[in-house]
Amino acid sequence: MQVIYISEDKFQYDIHSLFKAFYPTDTVRMIIGKPGDNPEKEKDISEGDEISFVEYTENSIKVKVSENLSDEKEFLDISKGEGSVSTDGSKGSLDNSKNTLKKLLYTLLSEKTGKKLPWGNLTGIRPTRIAMNLVDKDRSDEEIADYMKSMYFVSDEKIDLSIRIARREKEILKDIDYENGYSLYIGIPFCPTTCLYCSFTSYPIGAYKNIVDDYLTCLEKEIDYVAEAFAGKTLDTIYIGGGTPTTLLPHQIDRLLGYVHEKLDTSKVKELTVESGRPDSITREKLQAMKRQGCTRISVNPQTMRDETLKLIGRQHNVAQLIESFHMAREEGFDNINMDIILGLPGETADDVRYTMDEIKKLDPDDLTVHSLAIKRGSRLAEILKEKEIRGFSGKGDVADFNNTEEMMRIAASGAHDMGLEPYYLYRQKNISGNFENTGYARKGKAGIYNILINEEVQSIVALGAGTVTKRVFGYDGRIERCDNVKDVKLYMDQIEDMINRKRELFNV
Ligand code: SF4
Repeated sequence: MQVIYISEDKFQYDIHSLFKAFYPTDTVRMIIGKPGDNPEKEKDISEGDEISFVEYTENSIKVKVSENLSDEKEFLDISKGEGSVSTDGSKGSLDNSKNTLKKLLYTLLSEKTGKKLPWGNLTGIRPTRIAMNLVDKDRSDEEIADYMKSMYFVSDEKIDLSIRIARREKEILKDIDYENGYSLYIGIPFCPTTCLYCSFTSYPIGAYKNIVDDYLTCLEKEIDYVAEAFAGKTLDTIYIGGGTPTTLLPHQIDRLLGYVHEKLDTSKVKELTVESGRPDSITREKLQAMKRQGCTRISVNPQTMRDETLKLIGRQHNVAQLIESFHMAREEGFDNINMDIILGLPGETADDVRYTMDEIKKLDPDDLTVHSLAIKRGSRLAEILKEKEIRGFSGKGDVADFNNTEEMMRIAASGAHDMGLEPYYLYRQKNISGNFENTGYARKGKAGIYNILINEEVQSIVALGAGTVTKRVFGYDGRIERCDNVKDVKLYMDQIEDMINRKRELFNV
């Protein structure tokens, strides 16, 4: 276990994230105060645990990174030399202090572990934002690279990726009117079964099918609100996600999308995506309904092309079904099909990833999203890991045997490149395997615009349905405010008027 004593509750999240990035399989415990101050949190600290300290004083931040509790002489104490940094309490300096602290901690942990992290000391979920901001200021690639390297220790490979993505995003978004436009997200919180790693709002359709029509009625009430509040605004993109929207029956797809077209001005919509993620939910009739309703982009998600892994992660479909669904979608005229894969799935090696990429190449999707497995709170995977108190390998075929590696990331990136797909958006998650990232690749003209908009947070997105979050982006200062809909699907339906009122308050209409 890594134990970090910090003298006050400041930069806790950043410190925790950095330690977690260097020690992904260790528990990282933050304790505010000095040793002995917090007996409840300290009771199970043992000899083998590593103890570190971050101490804030009026004029400096002191950092000690320890080897173990009983070996204090080995502590690396940088507080008495160049390690001290000044703070004067103002906001600008506070940010500087945070950056300086992260640089120091990164250097110490890197020396101690002998590791370099691909994203350096960046712990946030949108590392490309830095490159985006500098591209907006017309900085050259060299200037951006120098900055990302000296400030954050980002690797050359990730710097190059960030710059390419930033420039491509700028090009794709150039026709979007952030101020007068908006995007719409509709969540369908039902799935055929629950995947091992899932932390989304998802209910098994088998047990919930009787409430789906009432759920759609509630969505229609929210759509009525959008029609009233956003009259005169431009609807740029629509994304139907979940859950699995293709758990809806064909007539329910017609009903939902038909209502959207009837109530909202969809004449300027640049992209209408329906996630059809689970092949076990796709039928020809559903694809035809989506096509009829103007859907321009779908996702058919393999996650892996290995049947054994699919079983292990609870997907209940096989590779043959995936291939059949993909061909069916092509036959029905879908010319923008995304596929999602996950690297670092239980039991998978670099060879498995190579195999998956080779099989996907045969299908030739237009868009590929490469995820690194993330252990999300509330997922079955997180619970299993907690129960077994294991992190990492515990035997072939065990769900706890997972790891994403640089080699896997490279195989996926070069596979995407071979298919003519270029990176266009990127984000990271907490507890992401290997401290890597999720990257979207697409053919020219096929990039998912909504994906960029939600990632860059440059346009308001109105989100309807259980467990969704609406974001209002204030054009003049880039401020963002949010309101959420409750996760529980029955509560959402019972409290639908309250869900709408929350949006009224957020948008003042
Ligand atoms: S398909 Fe997606 S939303 Fe549904 S259970 Fe799997 S991960 Fe969760």
